[in-house]
Amino acid sequence: MKERLKRASARTWGPTSSALSVVSGSATAVFVTWHGDNPGLGLLIGFTAVVVGMSAVHSILRRQHAHMVVLDLFSAGLGESVVDGDPVEELLRRTHELYRADWTWLIFADGITINTTEYDGASVSRGLAQTADQEIMAHLSTVDGAPSTLHPAWEDQGPRRVRHVLAALMPSASGGRAALVVGRRNRWEQFRPPDVSMFARIALHGGTALQSGWLVHRLRSESASNRHQADHDALTGLANRVKFRNSLQEVLRSGALPGVLLIDLDRFKEVNDTLGHHNGDLLLAEAAMRMQHVLGSGTMLARLGGDEFAAYLDADGDETRMRIYADDLRYAMTRPFKLGDVHVDVGASIGIALVRPIGDSVGEVLRRADVAMYAAKVDRTGVEIYREAFDGHSPERLQIIPRLRSAIERRELVLHFQPQLDLRTGRIVGAETLIRWPAAGTGFIAPDDFLPAAEQTDLMRPLTRFVLEEAILQCGRWREEGHDLRVSVNVSARNLLEPDLAAFIASLLDRAGIPHGALRVELTETALVTRAAETAGMLQSLRDRGIGVALDDFGTGHSSLTHLTTLPVDEVKIDKSFVLALGIDPVAGRVAQAIIELGASLGLDVVAEGVESAEHAESLAAMGCTHAQGYFFAKPMSPGDFVAWLGRHRQWTSTRVATSA
Ligand code: C2E
Ligand code: CA
Ligand code: CA
Repeated sequence: MKERLKRASARTWGPTSSALSVVSGSATAVFVTWHGDNPGLGLLIGFTAVVVGMSAVHSILRRQHAHMVVLDLFSAGLGESVVDGDPVEELLRRTHELYRADWTWLIFADGITINTTEYDGASVSRGLAQTADQEIMAHLSTVDGAPSTLHPAWEDQGPRRVRHVLAALMPSASGGRAALVVGRRNRWEQFRPPDVSMFARIALHGGTALQSGWLVHRLRSESASNRHQADHDALTGLANRVKFRNSLQEVLRSGALPGVLLIDLDRFKEVNDTLGHHNGDLLLAEAAMRMQHVLGSGTMLARLGGDEFAAYLDADGDETRMRIYADDLRYAMTRPFKLGDVHVDVGASIGIALVRPIGDSVGEVLRRADVAMYAAKVDRTGVEIYREAFDGHSPERLQIIPRLRSAIERRELVLHFQPQLDLRTGRIVGAETLIRWPAAGTGFIAPDDFLPAAEQTDLMRPLTRFVLEEAILQCGRWREEGHDLRVSVNVSARNLLEPDLAAFIASLLDRAGIPHGALRVELTETALVTRAAETAGMLQSLRDRGIGVALDDFGTGHSSLTHLTTLPVDEVKIDKSFVLALGIDPVAGRVAQAIIELGASLGLDVVAEGVESAEHAESLAAMGCTHAQGYFFAKPMSPGDFVAWLGRHRQWTSTRVATSA
């Protein structure tokens, strides 16, 4: 990129200076002939004037074209640095080269202080503002920030010592004012009008890049802290379920054979109910500390939820070792807990399961530990190691898997559809498919309550295939009725490991006569990033078949804007947590803005999910967000309701949908 920029900059100034020499050469000729008093003078003057005029026009056109090329390269290079580099440094360096400057600097003024970041052609440093900088800022505010040439005094500039200065105000990231300045030392190298006119654009592009860079930085630090929150339990500071599972998964991958301890407190509910949540929380925090003490700080201990904890240890088939730890843990829980003035006795039931050498999974080993724990609790033995015989008296919640299996086989799960629309035109462009499990008498079991179980077993495959079949069927129906819509389907990371998935989808679409681009597979960033190596092939074969890919829940999990630039996707969905926080948390707005800007520059559809109000829809549209879905437009609807809704709302106009949805 740097090379391309250099070449383009040579091109820019090359034609400009040669055109100037033609113009000045002709002007000299006119002057000489005029004074030479020659015959044919009129003709010669006429001819010369035409030449002068033509070359001037030609030079202007070429200059304008060259300016565009230079600007394009300039902004493209800066854009890259927004994601992967330091845009401040990049802006200084690029401007410095482009203007063949001896010194280039940025002035930042926030009303109270004024600082600079400077580049002398070798390195970037932060500096204190010089007297000249205050003059420059003062001058720029009198001309509305327009590019201006100035000639500040040498002694007012510290080490810069430049004779000619060109400065302009830029859009500023922090809310204060900022200026971009280039300076040349040589007396004869003053800045010329074309330098000045292009500088306005350079400052504008530069300022925009700095703003984006600042947003990216915010998003990164935000997502780092989100990540910690997402990985940890706020009350005890221990790892949470997600982190525990991921970490155990990694251990399994390495081929080690750990043992898992599942620890559930006894009588905790009584404490919570009689002494209140505050005391319940204190007890959990104290219990966590005691357990970590027994296990040692190097051992992964997690709070899975409520009063349930888990740990894994090196076991290598050694049950005795696991039992010793379990007994110690149990003993630590039998000491009374002091809560204010009362001492309470709780206790713990602990299940142990050892990872088996062949084909064991995190879900399966946790299931066995859970069954063993349940047996320990019911039989009041305190500690149990998993045995097949326990499976008979598993708790009810373990029955979810066989029930789900039969619900899928009998095609009892149903799909709901939530419309997505183009914020620019108001047109409905598609719908997201959301699965529902009808429960006897009580409406629906939410996907969040049964998908994790499916995720742990082989059920995700038949479940996703069922959803794909039904969703494509519905999409065909919409299209037959004249609604040219896309359909999006959520696909789990596990599905991406099925080698025939893309072919399966393509054949369903072909059978229904639907173009492949009308289906979008929604994948979470976490799924793609944590299993990047395994999923890359599948992503590619989806793309090869023209099937769309959307990056779901963007901004959470392992978020990084870089993923957006490297993953081959057609769409990015801004996670609803950012959308719901618009107008409440200013950072959420800036994060949304950063995703929208980067998405736009990569040519992606940017879909905001969780749009619940007209204000949100409007502010997202103003930020340049292309698409949206959410309760404001419509809740997910049964296939019948969705078709009826479509009949009423081919086009979205703000109040109509809001009142009838
Ligand atoms: P998701 O992909 O993020 O889906 C969007 C969720 O946001 C849906 O929850 C939807 O009902 C909800 N939602 C839509 N508009 C609004 C709004 O304006 N405000 C709020 N607060 N929420 C809104 P739902 O249906 O409970 O689905 C939860 C998650 O379950 C989905 O999150 C998705 O990850 C997963 N899921 C749903 N259906 C399927 C499926 O068929 N297969 C797979 N693998 N996962 C699915
Ligand atoms: Ca989704
Ligand atoms: Ca989502």
